[in-house]
Amino acid sequence: MVQSSKQVLAIAAVLAVVQAHPQGSFQFGSINSAWAVKRTLYNLDDISDQDRKDKLTQGHKDAVTIAAKALEKMDDDKYKPTLEYWFGKEHTDDDSVKKIKGVFKNFVGDNTDGTGSETNGKTTIYNDDYWVPTDKEIKEGDGKTPFCSLKNKDGKTGAAYFKRFKDGAAIHFCDKVFDRANLDTLKADNCAKIGDQVSTKKWTKNFIGANVLHEFMHNPRIGRDGVLKNIRDFAYDAYQCHQLAIDSDVEKRKTTIINADTYVWYALDIAFQEICSKQFSEPRDERGDDDSASDSDSPDSSPETDDPTNGACDCTESGCTLDSRACCANNSCKPFED
Ligand SMILES: [Zn+2]
Repeated sequence: MVQSSKQVLAIAAVLAVVQAHPQGSFQFGSINSAWAVKRTLYNLDDISDQDRKDKLTQGHKDAVTIAAKALEKMDDDKYKPTLEYWFGKEHTDDDSVKKIKGVFKNFVGDNTDGTGSETNGKTTIYNDDYWVPTDKEIKEGDGKTPFCSLKNKDGKTGAAYFKRFKDGAAIHFCDKVFDRANLDTLKADNCAKIGDQVSTKKWTKNFIGANVLHEFMHNPRIGRDGVLKNIRDFAYDAYQCHQLAIDSDVEKRKTTIINADTYVWYALDIAFQEICSKQFSEPRDERGDDDSASDSDSPDSSPETDDPTNGACDCTESGCTLDSRACCANNSCKPFED
């Protein structure tokens, strides 16, 4: 086959770009990096406030960026200890790594170029605080008070939740999330706001992207389809998530792989080390701090009611329903383990 000069030029251009960005030396500030541009965003049609819409758009992009970076780098030897640090020694085997990767892939998409998966686009963000949890759903629930107004015994409130609404995957972000920063702000001035230590206050409680990533772990088409069990909330924040991974009770340790915040901390740990080109000291328990911005540790999802078809291949004559498992078209869904 004879290639036109145009084709040759195009190939040369691609090679030049690859050479300019060899793996490992990628700079986050680069504008034209392929993995940072193409994305499928969640549905924001219900959000009328433009400022909030912009913050949620950036938050979603940042969440995909963090997860894609973790996915890209998690096999490096450098990050083997990071896996055990957050997921515990039971989850360093190939099967667990495959599941953890599966969850991130379900969010990021088939490649690691930053493309958000199709599932993202099938998730709607609602403006109203639409979930009124019962005490069966979450401990503080009274069947009357909407989620964001529920206070735990320390007076703390939740930040966001994943809960089906209007027959589809849905998320709501409470008001306080909109005071939080984006990735550009965090990484400015050599990651000044990220600091030198893994910190709940500085990282997840001041980063919309982390909150977005957490909620998507509860989306069964992302979390459950990857790990084959519902992803719940057994522990929140950096300190408690690490404690869960080293708990003396093996059954508790095993819950790390179905704990939403564990995925967030693992991804942030890898991504921030890459972005900031430095390592961080271990987290301390920040719960007693006077200026603690901790959210309530209440669950922010209700998996039993979130997946009414129980993850079955949910198809009609016209094809798969909107949030059916991805592989239902050929009727080959792998059975869940929960
Ligand atoms: Zn959660």
